[in-house]
Amino acid sequence: MFHPKIIEFFKKHNLYDEEMFEYILKRCDYVDYYDSDINFMVGCPAKVNPRNNRIEGFRLCIPYCWDEKTALVSVHEIAHAIYWYKRLGKKYNKLEEELFPMVVERIYLEENKTSTLESYEKFLDSTIDETSEAQYRFAIANRDHLLQSDISDFRYLDKSMRKFVRKWKRENR
Ligand SMILES: [Zn+2]
Repeated sequence: MFHPKIIEFFKKHNLYDEEMFEYILKRCDYVDYYDSDINFMVGCPAKVNPRNNRIEGFRLCIPYCWDEKTALVSVHEIAHAIYWYKRLGKKYNKLEEELFPMVVERIYLEENKTSTLESYEKFLDSTIDETSEAQYRFAIANRDHLLQSDISDFRYLDKSMRKFVRKWKRENR
């Protein structure tokens, strides 16, 4: 089970439903985030059908939730899982995959702000620069726009993200 604080957070933002979280939990593994031999496993890659490029599922791996950093990382990865779940059967687009999790992570930070968490978030942001993969640059460039929207309205959010993708493709041809 996820940490109650994490469940509360998703409930508060209308991003929780029992069926979805059961589905996610069945696909979830846990690792020790502070064990550098295994923490590379943390993530939530989508399973994409190579024949039609549609999202078929995902595999989630989150840290054991021991402190505020591991809670923040878990929120980010669970947001990936929610995103994949809501887009099951739809076309996979690598460019947009980090935006929703990074927005959700930022909202969690705002609501649970401590100096530790704030400097950790700054550190995470600082790892993204012009040499990073496109999905991270895209997420950083569009996160602030999306933060002004209501994240509990997923369909609206999804539409906005699609708009950003079109704009990005025009500008980065
Ligand atoms: Zn991510």
